[in-house]
Amino acid sequence: MKAIRGATTVYEDTPEEIRLAVKELLNEISQRNSLSEQEMICILFSSTADIRSLYPAKAAREAGFIHAALYSSLEPEIEGSLPLCIRVLIFAETGAMVNHVYLRGAAALRKDLSKYSIALDGPAGSGKSTVAKLLAAAHNILYLDTGAMYRACALKAMKEGLKKFDEKNVLPLMQKLDLRIEYRDGKQHTVLDGEDVSEAIRRPEVSMAASDISALRCVREKMVEMQRKIASEQSCVLDGRDIGSFVLPQADFKFFVTARSDVRARRRYDELTAKGFSVDLAQLQKEIEQRDENDSKREFAPLRRAEDAVLVDTSDMTIDEVLAYIEKKIQEKV
Ligand code: C5P
Repeated sequence: MKAIRGATTVYEDTPEEIRLAVKELLNEISQRNSLSEQEMICILFSSTADIRSLYPAKAAREAGFIHAALYSSLEPEIEGSLPLCIRVLIFAETGAMVNHVYLRGAAALRKDLSKYSIALDGPAGSGKSTVAKLLAAAHNILYLDTGAMYRACALKAMKEGLKKFDEKNVLPLMQKLDLRIEYRDGKQHTVLDGEDVSEAIRRPEVSMAASDISALRCVREKMVEMQRKIASEQSCVLDGRDIGSFVLPQADFKFFVTARSDVRARRRYDELTAKGFSVDLAQLQKEIEQRDENDSKREFAPLRRAEDAVLVDTSDMTIDEVLAYIEKKIQEKV
């Protein structure tokens, strides 16, 4: 037998509101725990003292929860407690892991339970970072550009004058790496040895070097550890190559964003020329294909679509269409 907790709030103290909130809460608990009503042995409610118009237990009975023993009690008035709140404790016949459910205003009571992560993987130029930024802004959560971290490692190796990127040469650099990811005005800043390198890592020559250096185990292990730590502390959108398959296999939402290589080269071309870099389109496409090959063929944590990631081919889609599609998929799963 397991105990499942839950809570929700009502907008006002009316029987209709209470019926609606209780039904929503119990259905959500049933669904997230794959529980039938018969498997619920007893359902114990408590509600804050400002809820007087209907017993939540009665609302549960009316909603069809007729097998379980139902009970309601009134909480004392406690200063500073969340108003108009209904809490529930359910004892149920289940062997599975339990998922506690906090809805509406009550989600604030257990922020730890409502933390989630969205993984967006895919090759260069697929549009994933643009979408990731917009998605993070829409959800008001953190955006972590993991590519920037590998780019910073490559920049470090270039600055140190390293000619060959192999474990023997790069490991000492990783051991003393001073890399920090900071957020200012909602934007990610990549700080290497105390210097903001957010712009410098975008230089075209850093892209290929990042792809080379990211194949090394000593580099990936260090970056993955940092990424997991950041993701464990808050809700976030992460974009990269191996987020859904390796960094966060338990991510709540996973997408694999891709596009044809000519489309991706054109996007990168537009992006770089807008920043004042002079680049050759055909050369860029060759480099992108070379990076795809490097990233997909490397031995450790390659670019790969996780089995449970939703495939999004953005070749013939606008950013708004991609965003709407991804949001729709997220809402379907919530
Ligand atoms: O995404 P972006 O083009 O900035 O990434 C630069 C390089 O870093 C990629 O080509 C890839 O080799 C590497 N990378 C990675 N794993 C990630 C993110 C980026 O290997 N999660």
